[in-house]
Amino acid sequence: MNPNESLVPTREEFLYFSLPEKLLFYVLTFLALGYAAQQVWARVKLWQTGRPTAPLREGWKYWLPTRESASQWWQNLLVYVLAQKKVRSSRKKSGAPMHLLIFYGFVSLFIATTLLGINTYSPIKFHQGNYYLLYEATFDTLGLLLLVGLVWAIGRRLIAVKQGAPVAAATLFENQKIDQRRYPVSHAPADWLALGMLLVLTLNGYWLEAARISANPKPWDSWSWVGHAIARSMGTISPEAYKAIWWFHILLVLVFFAVLPKLRIRHIVLAIFATAGKPNLPMGKLRTIPMEEVEQTEQVGVKTAKDYSRWHLMSLDACMECGRCTEVCPAWNVGKVLNPKQLVQDARAAMESGEDLAPKLTEEALWQCTTCHACVEACPVLIRHVDLIVDVRRNLVSEGALSGPAATMLRQTASTGNAWGAPANEREKWMAGLEVPLCRDGGSFEYLFWVGCAGATDPAAMKTTRAVAELLTKAGISFACLGREEACTGDPARRTGEEFLFQEKAEQNVGVFQKYSVKKVVTACPHCFNSLKNEYGDFGATMEVFHHTQLLGDLVDAGRLKTAESPNVVFHDPCYLGRVNDEAGAPRRTIPGMKNPPNHSAKTRCCGAGGGRMWMEEPPNERPSNARAEELVATGADTVAMGCPFCRIMLDAAIPQVTEKPMRLVDLAELLQEANQK
Ligand code: SF4
Ligand code: SF4
Repeated sequence: MNPNESLVPTREEFLYFSLPEKLLFYVLTFLALGYAAQQVWARVKLWQTGRPTAPLREGWKYWLPTRESASQWWQNLLVYVLAQKKVRSSRKKSGAPMHLLIFYGFVSLFIATTLLGINTYSPIKFHQGNYYLLYEATFDTLGLLLLVGLVWAIGRRLIAVKQGAPVAAATLFENQKIDQRRYPVSHAPADWLALGMLLVLTLNGYWLEAARISANPKPWDSWSWVGHAIARSMGTISPEAYKAIWWFHILLVLVFFAVLPKLRIRHIVLAIFATAGKPNLPMGKLRTIPMEEVEQTEQVGVKTAKDYSRWHLMSLDACMECGRCTEVCPAWNVGKVLNPKQLVQDARAAMESGEDLAPKLTEEALWQCTTCHACVEACPVLIRHVDLIVDVRRNLVSEGALSGPAATMLRQTASTGNAWGAPANEREKWMAGLEVPLCRDGGSFEYLFWVGCAGATDPAAMKTTRAVAELLTKAGISFACLGREEACTGDPARRTGEEFLFQEKAEQNVGVFQKYSVKKVVTACPHCFNSLKNEYGDFGATMEVFHHTQLLGDLVDAGRLKTAESPNVVFHDPCYLGRVNDEAGAPRRTIPGMKNPPNHSAKTRCCGAGGGRMWMEEPPNERPSNARAEELVATGADTVAMGCPFCRIMLDAAIPQVTEKPMRLVDLAELLQEANQK
């Protein structure tokens, strides 16, 4: 060390560089970042072709939070980006920790570079003394996270290749040939490029540090402990050799940033905008299409990608192609063509080409969705696949593309107000032998007991309806029913794609609620529960809505009802309760001690009935209900309890297909009613 040099620990930037060399560095940086910015701007312009949503702000400002949305924006950023909520709760056993290592390693290097940049290009100089020593030791250590994560990611792919996993397919049809359950890790040339570049960059970062230490040793170098250890094996190197390594590193960094917008690793930036700026909507709420929009555009729903909202278009680019959505899709898992990951890729391709979505996404796949939201729940960048699918269904239905039993269901809903086609006066059949108060009789009531089409029509579901009415009576709850004045909520119609039939039913029902000044509603159907709670607000409804297990759970807690014993009962969470409305606690409060199948609560597995699928035909080997029944039977329980008439109908047909063992299928309300009769 030169005896005239300062003994304050620090390091010199651009060590040994002449002014022309520094200028060359700035020119190359400008060119690389300019190229990247040009590509980003091209994507932003593509997203801007989408349907604008409030708040309407001009140009790039559209993508930034407003004063009103700022706190939600930062909160989302904290939860979904920094705390990696979705990745941490992922079912991917090795994928999740690998991703966390890469993410936090990347973030730490970003922080290190930012601090260095501030010190180099601002008048504030702090990169010295104890701070410098701590900086070196900390970021040398944290960089290893990235290294381990990258080696892990490459290792997973190498193992996948060894096991015969093919290169990721470009289209849905090609993807059908790939058994994703056998090969959960996809790999494409671009993935290898991104991972390879990041690995070389990280290794070279340490090599560069070692070269600096070798070329210009300092007494405090041991704080840069990884680089220092490598330097000891390097011996002394010349300033020219150090500069060559520096240029290699910088050129690689610049190439990486220039190609970043083209690689799927771009999600490290886009995930921020997709998650922090996510629409402030409940998971189960679909967009209400205003009639004025139909008059203006002369179409219903989404035909080409530009009919999606701007956020939806941007979210397509944010997809990290992790496949978590596909892994949990009940349709994909029974061998159907629907593959939500591929659907997102195909929608993105349609955004780029401007082609119609329906042929690109394939109608067959679009109709296979049960709207179970398992994909939405699993997606780390919060893509709303169900919105993407139902919006195209709306367009298809408006063009007469739906036929068969589902089309019959729509006609029945329109003509009778009942998805099963039963006339309105049959909605009171289940009341036979019970004294059920009716709203039209004029008495006051606290709760409207909303029965729903299934609860009033299906013989098994009617048992649940009767049990709920008897329990409410026993607990002294003041309630009333609408009887023949109740019409279908419109949920099956909306999710099948018949938006304006849903709106007609919603307006009709809200009119009845207003007539009877309804303040609270309780229902035993999670689909009605979701529509009434999350969607009827758009039509002027203001009441509180409860699933029957929520109210019954409260009554059990308050000691107004006895709980039931649960010897050998397994509980099946309905998607629209446990996942879509995040209510897994109430059923378990109502009857404690029930068994859980492997997939339960928010990660429950779909019975296959939602999204109008109840009225669509499918061969037995392609039924999600059979797959779920197998899981429930495997728990060894002798009773399957649930809280949804749709699940009940599906599992009632499925359980005998997968076991010869007699099993009881029952709603929680019936178990509770039995306990309260004793
Ligand atoms: S849509 Fe979401 S879950 Fe599916 S592959 Fe993309 S990022 Fe992963
Ligand atoms: S909502 Fe369910 S069925 Fe539809 S794509 Fe997502 S996971 Fe598959």
